[in-house]
Amino acid sequence: MKVLIADQINQKGIEELEEVAEVVARTDITPEELVDDIKDFDAIVVRSRTKVTREVIEAAPSLKIIARAGVGVDNVDVEAATERGIMVVNAPESTSITVAEHTMGLVLSMSRKIAIADNSVKEGKWEKSRFMGMELNSKTLGIVGMGRIGSQVVIRAKAFGMDIMVYDPYITPEAAAELGVEVVDLETLLVNADVITIHVPLTPETKYLISKPQFKIMKENAIIVNCARGGIIKEDDLYDALTQNEIGGAALDVFETEPPKESLLLQLDNVVLTPHIAASTSEAQRDAAIIVAKEIKKVFQGESPKNVINMPVMDPETFQLIKPFFGLAEKLGKFLIQTAQGNINELDITYCGELAEIQKHDIITRMILQEVLNPILTEPVNLVNAPGVAKNRGIIITEGKRSDSKGFKNLISIKMKADNNEVSVEGVFDKEPKIVMINNYQVDVETKGTMVIVCYKDIPGIIGSIGTKLGEHDINIAKMQVGRQQPGGEAVMVLKVDQNVSRDVEDDIKALAHVYDAVSVNL
Ligand code: NAD
Repeated sequence: MKVLIADQINQKGIEELEEVAEVVARTDITPEELVDDIKDFDAIVVRSRTKVTREVIEAAPSLKIIARAGVGVDNVDVEAATERGIMVVNAPESTSITVAEHTMGLVLSMSRKIAIADNSVKEGKWEKSRFMGMELNSKTLGIVGMGRIGSQVVIRAKAFGMDIMVYDPYITPEAAAELGVEVVDLETLLVNADVITIHVPLTPETKYLISKPQFKIMKENAIIVNCARGGIIKEDDLYDALTQNEIGGAALDVFETEPPKESLLLQLDNVVLTPHIAASTSEAQRDAAIIVAKEIKKVFQGESPKNVINMPVMDPETFQLIKPFFGLAEKLGKFLIQTAQGNINELDITYCGELAEIQKHDIITRMILQEVLNPILTEPVNLVNAPGVAKNRGIIITEGKRSDSKGFKNLISIKMKADNNEVSVEGVFDKEPKIVMINNYQVDVETKGTMVIVCYKDIPGIIGSIGTKLGEHDINIAKMQVGRQQPGGEAVMVLKVDQNVSRDVEDDIKALAHVYDAVSVNL
């Protein structure tokens, strides 16, 4: 077996690989040389310099695995690799400790004014009284997102005697109990924390998660730290909060625009800024090299690697059979994650009608899981790793078959249990995916665009009041369907709308008399 090391990686990783393969290091290889020479190799290791393009992949008949010694795989054409059955692996856990340590560094730098005091001493000053600090002992640290990095921050902050509050609607109670943290809602965290640190991925849900209303409720001496991604904190609002003394300080490693050349934050002395270096240590690079080397060894020895981020192609016959249901599975998964309130605990999936005949349901279940998990996790969840990720998050999956499909040719029926609600949804594929049942109410909804689902008491005037409320927010209703089991009982309304619906609008609808719940879903 032959491995090409196309970018500089730590020697430990190379030594690991030399135990099982011939290792060729060509860390200055050009894109043209790569296309010419890749044909001889079974594996390639890259960091971010080398681009593993479709052209490279198509010129590599022996290639079995592409390893990215780091986290993001933007420089690898994963789709092209998947089509050719080539695994792509990465090392997502390699930077967790490093980023957690940088977070603690920024927390201390702010709480003890280290960076600014350093500047002052270097300017020849001795301003002891200007730099009165804040002890971390017995202070409350609010952690937003307790994944790999957030969990490491918990361990380190506890060593400083801090009390920890966590906001992460997707962690299991077991994970919280294991680390001994208090799980709270975002508002409680923001109101009570002396130090707030962000460790969530940047998703539509977390974009500007921390902006003006959130700063308004923080303690006036609160410190906020962001080592996650720019855009989770709205920087203009942060600037206002800092200059209007609504909060005490901020420390950022990541920015909405990098580098943040034009940012007004650069003028403030109650901020500490670092140039997206939270993951940059030689130890993280060493660990990334060792992790991917071990993954390559596993593949060469016929075992399954753990960080595969794509799926090798399945046989063409099965693929053709399954393909039409992928779109339906994708839409149902998207529907579920947007309607879940809190952590998803159980998914009970039944395949009906002609779907009950197909053996490979597993792959459709994987597609549902991929869509349910992707919006909440940093690392890509795909058809290969979805079941493992779901298991780690404590989600119980049951799969069943039923010959009866309620008059449709095929039907997927899913019951979801989340912390704070239960949702059932049924969908069919007939030329295109459609939703035919929501919470036991029959509907007929195309799976495109935005819809608002409202549960309400079926009495006169309610439908009008909901329409009026949407109108007040300039939201145009394109289509409406109502499902009810009996007059005067609980009913469900599905409104297809032309504009996106914000959480404020959902809250306004929920506040209407006789409305039990309202949620918007983008499919
Ligand atoms: P992870 O996927 O292990 O954890 C993310 C956690 O956020 C999960 O537990 C998830 O449940 C939670 N979450 C998702 N959506 C949420 C929401 N709306 N509200 C609250 N919690 C939510 O990710 P990780 O490896 O710990 O990385 C965390 C962040 O750090 C990511 O943004 C990542 O890109 C960033 N990161 C930055 C650097 C750097 O150089 N500064 C390096 C590595 C990672």
